[in-house]
Amino acid sequence: MTSSLALTCETLTLHLRHTFTISRGSEDVAETVLLRLRADGVDALGESAPISRYDEDALQVTQMLQRLMLGGRDLFCFDDVLDLLPAGAFGARCALDLALHDLAGKRLGIPLYRLLGLDPARAAETSFTIGIADPQKTIEKTKEARHLPILKVKIGAGNDVETIEAIRSVYGGRVRLDANEAWTPEVAVSTLKALARFDIEFCEQPIAAGQPEGLRFVKERSPIPIFVDEDSKSLADLARLYGCVDGINIKLVKCGGIREAVRMIHAARALDMKIMIGCMIESSVLATAAAHLTPLVDYADIDGPLLITDDPFVGVRYDGARMRLPDAPGLGVVPRPPT
Ligand code: MG
Repeated sequence: MTSSLALTCETLTLHLRHTFTISRGSEDVAETVLLRLRADGVDALGESAPISRYDEDALQVTQMLQRLMLGGRDLFCFDDVLDLLPAGAFGARCALDLALHDLAGKRLGIPLYRLLGLDPARAAETSFTIGIADPQKTIEKTKEARHLPILKVKIGAGNDVETIEAIRSVYGGRVRLDANEAWTPEVAVSTLKALARFDIEFCEQPIAAGQPEGLRFVKERSPIPIFVDEDSKSLADLARLYGCVDGINIKLVKCGGIREAVRMIHAARALDMKIMIGCMIESSVLATAAAHLTPLVDYADIDGPLLITDDPFVGVRYDGARMRLPDAPGLGVVPRPPT
């Protein structure tokens, strides 16, 4: 049981290195919610990067967290505590779930990967995201990232073949695509057929979410494997995707945190789906939590901290694309020392 307890939220305004454009729009700054939970003298951190695609924002997540009454609760009973929030409040649940895991790890004196029974040597390599731009800018950004082995390229702006051709003119590494729901099933098939010659690992979310039969149509005709992201929000979405996709992208803030992500990973394995774990524009708090789960997955796309200029925290470290998990207790995230 917990005797002394304090919960506070603050908004983090994170600035992007490059304007970040996907098929739905552009952004230069992103707002996330940092949760600080102090229980019996132990300080824990959580973070949420609310997703406008799912009608969530920083204010709403903050208000939900601030209304929580945690006094007298056993904070090791993760599910009971998380269920104080509505089942559909994925963004708020994510911040709380991370703070509970951070707190538990710190109380036990072990890093999160150990709390989860995972081998840090199996942490995945992350891809690095290239947003939508004109071919000249795309070539510049690709050259900046040329030392990295895996790129995830945002497409769906109409010049997709030209974009990938530009990238392939300067880059020989692994390339994944993300269309962010841009195409109809027919356009997806014809575009993916045209892109197959560029040696593409897979394409994420080719069509608007909510059409499993459309995905099946694309998967059966596409020479490039099909993953979903907007369609694989939480555990409840997976059964209907069975046979319609080759893999799913799991994000902690989309599904409600570490606990739900682990459930999704095991369900996806049972449904014969490949698994990627991804991120939003977010600080090292949320990205490090996701990195701790990568020993369980096939692919990682956890480049949030690499895309911003003012990450207030240090956690997972990047050795090129290889992620090094922190060994400190809990998430292992600390404030960035002043430079
Ligand atoms: Mg995506």
